[in-house]
Amino acid sequence: MGSLDSFNPATGELIGSVATVEPADVQTAVDDVARVQPFWGELALADRGRYLRRTAEILAGDLEEVTRLLTSEQGKPITEAHTMEVVPTIDALHWIAEEGPEILADQQVKMGGGLFLGKRATHSFEPLGVIAVIAPWNYPWSIPFGEVAIALMAGNGVVLKPSELTPLVGDRIRVAFEKAGVPEGLVRVLQGDGEVGKALVESSVRKVFFTGSVATGYSVGAACAARMKGAVLELGGKDPAIVCADADLGNAIDGIAWAGFANSGQTCSGVERVYAVSDVADRFVSGIAAKAKGLAVGDPQSWTTEIGPMVSAEQAAIVTDLIDDAVASGAELVCGGPVEVPGSPGSHIAPAVLTGVTHEMRIMREEIFGPVVPIVVVADEAEALRLANDSEFGLGASVWTRSRPKGERIGRQLDSGMVWINDHAYTHAAVQCAWGGVKDSGLGRSHSRFGFYECAEVKTMTWNSSRARDFWWHPYDETLGRAVRASSGLLYGGEESRVKVLRDGGGSLLRTGARTIRGR
Ligand code: NDP
Repeated sequence: MGSLDSFNPATGELIGSVATVEPADVQTAVDDVARVQPFWGELALADRGRYLRRTAEILAGDLEEVTRLLTSEQGKPITEAHTMEVVPTIDALHWIAEEGPEILADQQVKMGGGLFLGKRATHSFEPLGVIAVIAPWNYPWSIPFGEVAIALMAGNGVVLKPSELTPLVGDRIRVAFEKAGVPEGLVRVLQGDGEVGKALVESSVRKVFFTGSVATGYSVGAACAARMKGAVLELGGKDPAIVCADADLGNAIDGIAWAGFANSGQTCSGVERVYAVSDVADRFVSGIAAKAKGLAVGDPQSWTTEIGPMVSAEQAAIVTDLIDDAVASGAELVCGGPVEVPGSPGSHIAPAVLTGVTHEMRIMREEIFGPVVPIVVVADEAEALRLANDSEFGLGASVWTRSRPKGERIGRQLDSGMVWINDHAYTHAAVQCAWGGVKDSGLGRSHSRFGFYECAEVKTMTWNSSRARDFWWHPYDETLGRAVRASSGLLYGGEESRVKVLRDGGGSLLRTGARTIRGR
């Protein structure tokens, strides 16, 4: 067993260490969770819900400690540690505990009055067993937390592999559930590098919730497919924001600045491209540049800081390279870029606004994952839509307009898993809404009732009275053949065919019907 050190990205200080596992030991850990899970899976849904409500209650009391830890390890401003990470998960626990039992309750299937008259059928939602959650560093609390909570509500055990950059936050998720009495060993955290994640995917876990880069997502998806198990893949994004001519510009500027710069832009569903219709483009550019210049870059532990450090020097270098490439290709950097913050050895990037960018530039095609908003001026909304859809990504998109019908019309044509009108990205915090993308942004959905279904095996169970036998059972003979033809005509044919059917096949129908009654 080795160890992994965790450093504060703002101060460079060592804030803690965790023990790591060897890839060869991952299967044993999964087996350990599999031994605890059956007990949990047997609990009534309402009882599992009680544990989750208790987790919420304890977490509300631990809010200050958890948010401080998050900001120390990941670097996001303390306000965002509250608004974008921990408080939404407390809210999520309540929704999961409240709605989970209804979503996962057995469902009676309407069998109808046709071929299956008299049959009874039920869909039930069985736990999968052990689910793997592989998490990124950008929202190291809220992304895995919601997935773990829904997996638990559905009766599963969980093995969580946090990012190497945020191991302490990952482990704190386990502690949150255990403090509420969730059986020890039901949520297991495995620390280590990508090889540990790979071993987890290749282990006997029944499903993998993976959030991370597109390249790793493809390899995780392929490894799961080869083992006949499912994967929910939440990958990168290149979210467009379309600013229509009738947008409320003040609102669009504030909202897009928040969605582009929050968490220093290290958000998979952050605004990464703006298409502003020419009528309003100048006012939009000057408004968002003024807003960007006014945001406070600094110590993330301060309530007034709006932009913290980048998570690492490597991440800052990727963003700076993309800005430099755009400028070298003819774009104008209106404001922002790398800055020094007195007293902090961390890597800081002040919110950047770029104009004069073209569709071909790398900054408009690759994921930036930094506080940069590139703006393209378009003639009209049709051009915006065409450019927005011309991307390998399809996570989220926003439309800024005063007209709801117009926003919805554009929204339906956007190739993305989520569309927000006059807002952006916030529904990750609203666990009742489905989360996920199309194209290279991923596969499957987390959160919402669809996230529950991803954590369950849907089982069909039917009931037959043993006093009736099915008409399609042996023996096969002409009477049965004529009866089947007749019933098809009766059930699905038009008025004319019904009369003919009764005339030609009525007798066979009656004889076959009689044969279905046992004892004749
Ligand atoms: P990575 O893909 O590098 O890593 C994600 C997680 O997978 C980490 O825990 C990592 O471990 C682990 N991992 C690495 N290699 C493997 C492997 N071969 N098999 C299994 N697991 C592996 O992404 P980042 O952590 O760098 O996250 C940034 C990316 O994630 C961005 O592209 C971003 O857009 C995307 N993202 C998408 C979100 C969404 O909801 N769609 C949300 C957040 C991020 P380790 O850290 O030890 O390498």
